[in-house]
Amino acid sequence: MLITDTLLLDYKRCSRRAFLNIHGDLTKQEPKRDFLNKLRQESQRHIASVLDTYYPYYEKVSILQTSSKERAKATEVLMQQGVDCIYQGQLWVDAHTLTSWDCSENPEMTLPSGYDYLGKPHLLIKQPGLSKFGNWSYYPVSIHLGRKAKPEYRLMATFYAQLLGIIQETPPPNPELIVRPLKQSWVDIGEWLPKLEFILDECVAVLETRGEPEVFISRQRCSLCPWYGHCYAIAKSQQHLSLVPGVTPNRYKSLQELGVMTTESLATANSDSLEELIGTELGNKLQLQARSIVHNQPIPRPQHEYNSGEILVNQTIELYFDIEAEPERNLDYLLGVVVVNRVNQTQTFYPLLAETPQEEGVIWQQFLELVHTYDQAPIFHFSDYEKDTIKRLGNLYQTPRFEIEHLLSRFVDLHRCVITSVIFPVESYSLKSLANWLGFHWRDAGISGDQCVCWYDQWLSTGDRSFLSSILRYNEDDCLATLHLKNWLVEFFSKIEFSS
Ligand code: SF4
Repeated sequence: MLITDTLLLDYKRCSRRAFLNIHGDLTKQEPKRDFLNKLRQESQRHIASVLDTYYPYYEKVSILQTSSKERAKATEVLMQQGVDCIYQGQLWVDAHTLTSWDCSENPEMTLPSGYDYLGKPHLLIKQPGLSKFGNWSYYPVSIHLGRKAKPEYRLMATFYAQLLGIIQETPPPNPELIVRPLKQSWVDIGEWLPKLEFILDECVAVLETRGEPEVFISRQRCSLCPWYGHCYAIAKSQQHLSLVPGVTPNRYKSLQELGVMTTESLATANSDSLEELIGTELGNKLQLQARSIVHNQPIPRPQHEYNSGEILVNQTIELYFDIEAEPERNLDYLLGVVVVNRVNQTQTFYPLLAETPQEEGVIWQQFLELVHTYDQAPIFHFSDYEKDTIKRLGNLYQTPRFEIEHLLSRFVDLHRCVITSVIFPVESYSLKSLANWLGFHWRDAGISGDQCVCWYDQWLSTGDRSFLSSILRYNEDDCLATLHLKNWLVEFFSKIEFSS
């Protein structure tokens, strides 16, 4: 079996993912999303800027070598020649090399035997020090798009250092990491080698068994995984507890100890045992959530805040606000507002769009004019992002502070209203999930905010206005979904007040 850096990275993120990559039915993977291509392009731009800044002179391993083994051989030839900086080299250690490798002299340099290993560090940099090549050796440099030197980056860097140590017959060198914007750091090899060893042992043990690791759906971890559709279908059929909001992997383990394995069993579990195990508040919260899902009924939260609050009361004019952004450029390019007039029963969409990144300041002024036109109207939005953006744009374009404060006092975050007041029978408290449950449907099904980021990029590079039309449609639907949610909340709470 070939253990690669990407397999190890997948294992670190999810053991099931690594297992499926090796033993799964590849036809069940989802097609690559546009967003992943965009990330790949961003990564290439980042690597290019690192090369320009720190390593302008390098030797690239020839792409004429098609197989990884050939590329690894070509990399070794460049190392033998003493090239200062090698770009896109590959490190290959085969099972045979490991068998003949004398671990007694290098006890720290062990890898599980019987496997081939492949690593693709971005750069290999020459440094003084004896190796099998002469009085020089190499250390690896890994370049990542993230802004922090995450544990998985350190693990990969240590893997490269380990392979490199075996190839050049030196102790593993300290690897370098470069994250965004251009932040360099070193990985402490003494600290990370034992961790690498432990994870590699675990990883090969999982891959050698034929037992598929259990599914556990986690939005953050699973959203970009090609196995998502496959895993989600399994989780759904099992009524898996990871589909209950609030059930984390640790809480899941605790629930298993109690014999609670499905949403239904959580809904009907003994409340006292549940509270004893995970605490009164949490036990109660998870059980209500499970009951809401099982009965497909929303439930008012105990001590909900908004039932009699004036905050949701219908006004003659209300604004519904949603933003589309391009995080890579730190740009908010679409400030979408739907103005609702409840007397005339009209809804008007104002898409304030920066067709070029330079127009962000212009749409900000247009936005201020629009919200001043309706200066008594509440501004409904979903999540913190809209408020944070108002602060950012206010600072950036030097809008007077009192004006921003007054504007923000009109904002009503419906996400906060929901999570403090109602338990919904949903798997996630995203706008999409809530509004879908309420029967609202986006005109373009299956599209996410990620896709808009890609469309805006495509608009900038092609000038094709159909990308802009798609973004506007999506943004308008986001505003209308927020309106739909608000209307539902008003009705829901009025029924509760009426019945109490
Ligand atoms: S979808 Fe989630 S659980 Fe399934 S393999 Fe991917 S990361 Fe793991």
